[in-house]
Amino acid sequence: MRPHLVFWISALVRILLILSGAAVCGYFWGMKVGLALGLIGMLGLVVMQLQYLLSLSDWLDNPSSARLPDGWGAWTEIFSRLYKLRRGDEKNQAELAEWLARFRQAMTLLPDGVVIMDDVMFLEWCNPIAEHHLGLDLKRDKGMRVTNLVRTPEFIDYIILGRYETPLTLSFRDRKLIVHIIPFENRRQILVTHDVTESERIDMMRRDFIANASHELRTPLTVINGFLEIASLQPDLEVSIRSSHLKLMVEQGVRMQRLVEDMLTLSRLESAEFQVRCERIDMHAMLRHILAEGQALSAGKHKIVLELDGPDLQGSPDEIRSAISNLVTNAIRYTPEEGQIKIVWKSGAQGPKLVVQDSGIGISAEHISRLTERFYRVDKSRSRETQGTGLGLAIVKHVLLRHNAQLLIESTPGVGSKFCVQFPVSRIVE
Ligand code: ADP
Repeated sequence: MRPHLVFWISALVRILLILSGAAVCGYFWGMKVGLALGLIGMLGLVVMQLQYLLSLSDWLDNPSSARLPDGWGAWTEIFSRLYKLRRGDEKNQAELAEWLARFRQAMTLLPDGVVIMDDVMFLEWCNPIAEHHLGLDLKRDKGMRVTNLVRTPEFIDYIILGRYETPLTLSFRDRKLIVHIIPFENRRQILVTHDVTESERIDMMRRDFIANASHELRTPLTVINGFLEIASLQPDLEVSIRSSHLKLMVEQGVRMQRLVEDMLTLSRLESAEFQVRCERIDMHAMLRHILAEGQALSAGKHKIVLELDGPDLQGSPDEIRSAISNLVTNAIRYTPEEGQIKIVWKSGAQGPKLVVQDSGIGISAEHISRLTERFYRVDKSRSRETQGTGLGLAIVKHVLLRHNAQLLIESTPGVGSKFCVQFPVSRIVE
C-alpha cells in the first residue's frame, strides 16, 4: 500500500476510535463527560504527534541509524524509511572512506611525488614522496601557494609561462627532478615529480667511462699508427730502428690488450646476472702463487714477505685471485727499488683479513677516497710508466663488494701504503 495512504488510514482509525469511545461514554454518563473525554483523547493524540516530531528533530541533529527512535502507527513507517535511507548513506560513506584510504595508500606507494593544487596553486594534498622531493610538509603547508614553497626561479618561470606540455627539469635540494603539471577537474592541477638524480649520475658515469676508455685506447693506437706510417713511407729503414719500433708497437699492443681485458672484467663483475661462484678457495696456495708472480714482476728489486695464518674462504677463486694480485702488483709498481712489501693473511674477531703493506711512494689523503673510481690515478704518467690501466682498484672494489668484503686504505706520502681487505666471518670455510 502507498505510504501516505497508510498514514491517513491509521490517523483516521485513531480519531474514529477516540470519537467512538467518547460517544459511548457520553451515552452512559452524559454528553458533557463524552465531550470532555473526546477532547482529552484528541489532545493526547496531538501531544503524541508533537512528541514524535520532537524526537525526529532531535534525531536530525545527529542522524545516526543506531539512534533512530521507535514509532507508533504512521511513525513506525516514517522511522523505518528514515532508517533505510540513513543505513544506505552510512554504507556509501564507509565505502567512500575506504576508497579514499586505499587511494592515499596507493599514492604513498608511488615512486613519484604527487601534489594536488587548486587553480591558483594552493596546496590541497601531496604524497610523502612529494614532501621529500620538494621539502613540503602537508600538515604545515596545506593551503599555501606552492610557488611560495618551491622558491626557485626555474619553477616560478615555468608556472608563469604555463607551457605545461613540456616537462620541467628542476635542480632542487641536491636532486634533479622532472616536473609535470597536469590540469584536471577544471579548477585543479596535479604536479608530478620524478627523481632522476641516480639515473643522471649513472649516465654521467657511463659517459665519463666511454670518454676515458676512448682516450686510453687512443694513445697506444696513435703510437702504433705512427710507426706503421713510418714503416710504409720508409721501407728501407735501418733494421735496428725498425726492430725498436716493432718493440714499442708490441708494448702498446699489450697495453691495449690489458686495457680491454680489464674493461671486460669490470663489465662482467658489474652485470647483475653474473652470480659469484661459491667454491672453496685454498688461500695459502693462492697467496703463495701470487707471491711467486710478484717476485717475478719485482725481479729481485724488492723484499717481499708473506705471512700465512688465515682460514680458507668461500667464493670465486678467479675473482679473489685477480683482486689480491692487483693489490700486490700495485704495491710493487709504486714502491721504489729496495723497498719492502708485506702480505699478511690472518684471522680476526670480525673475520679474516688480508693486508698488503708497502714502503712505497704513498698517497696523500685527498686522493684516497677516489682511488677505486675507474681510471682515477694520482700520477697519470707514473701509472702509464708502470703499465697501469687505471682500472685495477675499481676491479678490486667490485670483487670485494660481491664477496661482502671491505677495502680500507691507509697511506702516508713518502712512507708507504697499507691496503686491508676485511672479509666477513660468513665467508670462512671450516
Ligand atoms: P693503476 O693501473 O693506475 O695502478 P689502480 O686502479 O690500480 O690503477 O690504482 C689507482 C691509483 O692508485 C694508481 O694510479 C696510483 O696512483 C694509486 N695507487 C694504487 N696502489 C698504490 C700503492 N700501493 N701505492 C701508491 N699509490 C697507489
